Amino acid sequence: MRYQVHFSANYETGQYGWTTELETVKKQIDWMLRSLQTDYIDYGFIHCLDTQSDWEDYQKNGILEFLLEQKKQGVVRHIGLSTHTPALANMVLDTGLVDQMMFSINPGYDYHHGDYAKGSADERMALYRRYETEGIGISVMKPFSGGQLLDEKTSPFGKALTMYQCIQYALDKPGVLTVLPGIRNVEDVRQLLGFLEVSPEERDYSVLGTFTPQDALGSCVYCNHCQPCPAGLNIGLINKYYDLSTAGDTMAADHYAKLEKHASDCVNCGHCSDRCPFQVNQPEKMKQVASYFQK
Ligand code: SF4
Ligand code: SF4
Repeated sequence: MRYQVHFSANYETGQYGWTTELETVKKQIDWMLRSLQTDYIDYGFIHCLDTQSDWEDYQKNGILEFLLEQKKQGVVRHIGLSTHTPALANMVLDTGLVDQMMFSINPGYDYHHGDYAKGSADERMALYRRYETEGIGISVMKPFSGGQLLDEKTSPFGKALTMYQCIQYALDKPGVLTVLPGIRNVEDVRQLLGFLEVSPEERDYSVLGTFTPQDALGSCVYCNHCQPCPAGLNIGLINKYYDLSTAGDTMAADHYAKLEKHASDCVNCGHCSDRCPFQVNQPEKMKQVASYFQK
């Protein structure tokens, strides 16, 4: 059993609420520990901060201090952060306190659509790389943008995506460990678990290439839609290791070295570029990667 408890979630009224009032937070944590019949929390989360002023209140009101004290006493084992905002995430990550993240990832938010579409596509991808580089795992929240993406009438793209496409999209992002959609009942759980059974074609989200905004075109999203490569390269993984290594991930070069085929094995056939929905010029990128890793 793993417990994840959010310091600032407030269920006093019987409904979910949010508070930065210290005494309420203390009472709520006490109530949650008693209700869960536990004397420890695996992940104590700095909960749902989206602006600099949220973060300032969190510190000024003593909630961060309370959380750190709980960690010192062994009640909390790791500290997490839940946010929708890249700028705030970077600010809190700079403190070095956080081991785990909850972050909202879906094609809508990454492509400027929806209430929590914070930051540019590049800024968001750079953040995912930062998580992976610093060994901070992401649990993805809102993978379907609150359900909007699953219905063509509400999807900002005018086309519905499936749950499985959205889950695969999130899982392909650097740093992502798991995807946590909201569930209402057992049937929802059954449907979600269907992800483990469906074919790669049913998880393929390359349709996104038809509505990718300009600032996200030309960047590899590691989807591997361009496979198979006649030279046997794992194109998505090669791109991911390159991007992570250039972002400062010290493990990425080792992972790259262990691949069976490297960018230098590219025969420049252009098959991948023809297939890529995101307009990535992979033969050029492979030259860049081979020169960077000398392999
Ligand atoms: S080159 Fe294009 S199709 Fe291939 S993995 Fe990258 S984004 Fe996907
Ligand atoms: S251009 Fe290179 S990476 Fe792309 S399919 Fe051909 S050999 Fe593979």
